[in-house]
Amino acid sequence: MAENADNPQTPTRSTEKSAAAYESARKVLAGGVNSPVRAFGAVGGTPLFIARAKGAVLVDMDGNEYIDYVGSWGPMILGHADERVAAAASKALDKGWSYGAPTEIETRLAECILGDFESMEKIRFVNSGTEATMSAIRLARGFTGRDYIVKFEGCYHGHADSLLVKGGSGLATFATPSSAGVPEAVTSCTIVAPYNDVDAIRQIFAQHGKKIAGVLIEPVAGNMGCVPPIEGFLAELRKLCTDHGSLLIFDEVMTGYRVGLGGAQQLYGVTPDITCLGKVIGGGLPVGAYGARAEIMDKLSPLGPVYQAGTLSGNPLAMATGLATLQAVHEKGFYSQLEMRAARLAEGLEAAARHAGVPITQNRVGSMATVFFQPGPVTDWSSAARSDTKLYAKFFHAMLERGVYLAPSQYEVMFMSVAHTFEQIDATIAAAEDALRSLKS
Ligand SMILES: *Cc1c(COP(=O)(O)O)cnc(C)c1O
Repeated sequence: MAENADNPQTPTRSTEKSAAAYESARKVLAGGVNSPVRAFGAVGGTPLFIARAKGAVLVDMDGNEYIDYVGSWGPMILGHADERVAAAASKALDKGWSYGAPTEIETRLAECILGDFESMEKIRFVNSGTEATMSAIRLARGFTGRDYIVKFEGCYHGHADSLLVKGGSGLATFATPSSAGVPEAVTSCTIVAPYNDVDAIRQIFAQHGKKIAGVLIEPVAGNMGCVPPIEGFLAELRKLCTDHGSLLIFDEVMTGYRVGLGGAQQLYGVTPDITCLGKVIGGGLPVGAYGARAEIMDKLSPLGPVYQAGTLSGNPLAMATGLATLQAVHEKGFYSQLEMRAARLAEGLEAAARHAGVPITQNRVGSMATVFFQPGPVTDWSSAARSDTKLYAKFFHAMLERGVYLAPSQYEVMFMSVAHTFEQIDATIAAAEDALRSLKS
């Protein structure tokens, strides 16, 4: 574990400064945070306030160091404060950082992404993954002249009203809002289907096919923990969409540049009509994007009738950190380096759980992985939901005590970066074995 000369780690970790910062934050920020999961609601305890980060290491306000597997929820694939990205950012800063007029770097980032994703001929940048999916479904509706959107239970696409839904009872149903403040009328055009269930989606198309504008999916689910698509599932969605004139929309906000250069669509060999991106493409600054073939993208304003805009969209500073990040992931051997690290951690965690006698199921696709506290298999939301979330919460805190920062929820993934050293990964595995043993006592 990294040394900190100023603040040597004491056996009983103090988190006083984080606790005080949280108290102050709660007086002025709703719930003390700007995104709910950060409040540690699912695992209990007080969130750590972060002072700085470098490589794979987070440092909290009390000077405690943690090996980080959250990675800002995905973007930090190079690790924190990567020097190449920092250099690109400071170069961009010198030139001023927002004009509300076109800049060349937007074209450069677009060319880079379109070179990697054959399914897209044109792209538009927005400021978040939420905006990307919200705009993508508007575009799908505008292009097809239809209203219905199909989404899958357990998939998260950001917080646009019509996607904040849950299924009712039964296999495949019209959605009901999963958040207060979302009118039923807004979700009445959203159908929720179980993930990885070919029969259910066939049934939905048989019933509603002519009204379906698009099917929106995380091609590897990452927001119910990591749940890969079963063999043939994505191909079946492709076929159903093609047969019914509906658009297939891959939400690759998490998987884009995470599971490989061409995203999950390249990994599984299934071509969507519209792709949503975010997270890695901004390198840690707020960037989202959606793209498709020209025929679809040309429906967007100013060429077409589908409106979508953004004051800060294509922001030159965010484009610079995004481009520097994507240049780094294009370096030869990048994804094999990432895979080597992710595989080492996964194998180590399997062994640790076996030695400690704790039944787990680990799902992994490249550098996305989740250890579910249950015997498994985990293939959809109803199986993911059988996990022992109380045990996960204990594991989470036991790992924090041992200097490892995991996601504060069972239903999130661990993200590996290329900045994680083998020493840090091995220390994580040793911490996990110790933590897992402590759960039993
Ligand atoms: C993170 C995420 C989003 C939302 O992105 P934000 O930038 O948080 O709005 C959408 N879809 C998927 C698959 C995500 O992982």
